[in-house]
Amino acid sequence: MTSRTLSRRAMLQGALVAVAFNPVSQSWASTLEPGAVPLPPLDGELRMDAASRTSASEDFGHIIHRTPWAVLVPGSVDDIVRMVRFAGRQNLKIAAARGLGESHSTFGQSQVQAGIVIDMSALSTIHEVREDSAWVDAGVRWHELLAATLPSGKSPPVLTDYIELSIGGTLSAGGIGGQAFRWGLQVDNVLEMDVVTGKGELVRCSRSRERPLFDAVRSGLGQFGIIVRARVKLVPVPASARTYTALYDDLHRFMEDQRRLIDEGRFDYVEGFALPSNGSWSYQLEVVKYFNPGAEPDDAKLLAGLGFQPGTLQVKDSSYFDFVNRLAPLVELLKQLGVWFFPHPWLDMFVPARAAEAFVQEVLAQTTEADMGQGPILLYPIRSSELTTPFLRTPNDRHVYLFSLLRTAIPPTPENVAALVQKNRAIFERLTAIGGKIYPVDAVPMSPTDWRRHFHPFWERFEQAKQRYDPNHVLTPGQGIF
Ligand SMILES: Cc1cc2nc3c(=O)[nH]c(=O)nc-3n(C[C@H](O)[C@H](O)[C@H](O)COP(=O)(O)OP(=O)(O)OC[C@H]3O[C@@H](n4cnc5c(N)ncnc54)[C@H](O)[C@@H]3O)c2cc1C
Repeated sequence: MTSRTLSRRAMLQGALVAVAFNPVSQSWASTLEPGAVPLPPLDGELRMDAASRTSASEDFGHIIHRTPWAVLVPGSVDDIVRMVRFAGRQNLKIAAARGLGESHSTFGQSQVQAGIVIDMSALSTIHEVREDSAWVDAGVRWHELLAATLPSGKSPPVLTDYIELSIGGTLSAGGIGGQAFRWGLQVDNVLEMDVVTGKGELVRCSRSRERPLFDAVRSGLGQFGIIVRARVKLVPVPASARTYTALYDDLHRFMEDQRRLIDEGRFDYVEGFALPSNGSWSYQLEVVKYFNPGAEPDDAKLLAGLGFQPGTLQVKDSSYFDFVNRLAPLVELLKQLGVWFFPHPWLDMFVPARAAEAFVQEVLAQTTEADMGQGPILLYPIRSSELTTPFLRTPNDRHVYLFSLLRTAIPPTPENVAALVQKNRAIFERLTAIGGKIYPVDAVPMSPTDWRRHFHPFWERFEQAKQRYDPNHVLTPGQGIF
């Protein structure tokens, strides 16, 4: 595509499109001015208009705002290769994001001050759906993949609670959900990936091919490469799901039952929540059994021996899709109320089971309803034996609890946000002291020393991978690791 077609298209769309970069003034140009370096030819476009750049300085957290100089809307994987190479040569930083203003990061992880953000939603083709796997662009959302696989009774084995996240975004983080006790995280269920490394090389990797890159990129927080395509495992799933919820007032019994359930494997999905209750807390178990119509689950057998409070059990049947898409109506409501667009200083933690009960009690004792802004508190265990991804750092214990304070800042004032981020930091320090790890998608200010400790004993390996795949530190500065 010529620069003339690019600018004509830009005028039509009202977006200013760059054709050159001026290394002296460190700015983009829409014409090839003297001293400017022409951009590589692109199948898509590089936008430099204020609206595109401002959207790329937003995320779900609404706490950090870093404005890039330009946004790449790739028309092909080659565009990503070309722009990563260009960024390297011109000493610019670059990062992938799920979409402009649609990134689910909560603390600027996909933003790039004075660099380039890649709008991955522009590449969202499902290339192939086979019996056991699907080959998809990284910008595809889990919801879209399910729409393509469920007609043949297949699903990825583990899904995040919210399925509008991008496949590339969750593979960079981890991708946890209530099926993880059985399957591990989404990063444990990706079979193969195409990755554009920080050197601008397009490399296919898997467990048996370019394994060091495969291991680096999964939960690699965008530090080593941009995932452009992934082969995601698929498994057969029944058509229906029966959801059981029940309340506990005893944290010890609640956590004990959860561990028992994941070890016995009675259900297909196990999660749980802490709920405010008359100035104290109660705990809600949420478990699901999949089934095909005509082969109904045996409720009495499934629930035998559990210590929930009598009279609190609720049972609901739905289709498998409505179950995995269960948050959609709530999200729609939150959008209508405007609360979805408030700041979200989230805190996600992995807590070793041996210390979990005391730690959860300690954190809940200092957490008020106002601190949560009606956001949920997740609490559920996974089995460490299912976790195979080196850079997903979790505590050293047989069972590990995900404990997430999914806060909404109400009122959405800078003072309230700052106070909540400070609370996150204080809890993070207590978590570190008991051998816990954060799930690094959240709003916790981290220093390079914190990151070293986070990746210990793999920090050297993490650093070596950076040296090997992104030696000029071109990629994903918003994580603040290097
Ligand atoms: C409402 C909501 C619900 C959530 N539920 C869950 C859940 O149930 N389970 C769970 O595990 N997580 C959950 N998360 C967290 C989510 O997994 C992370 O925010 C994750 O980063 C994915 O978000 P995203 O697709 O919007 O990616 P982004 O936020 O845009 O990107 C996240 C990071 O990955 C990098 N990145 C993005 N795409 C790529 C790519 N293709 N290649 C390399 N790096 C890339 C970005 O630069 C950034 O650093 C939730 C978040 C929200 C806001």
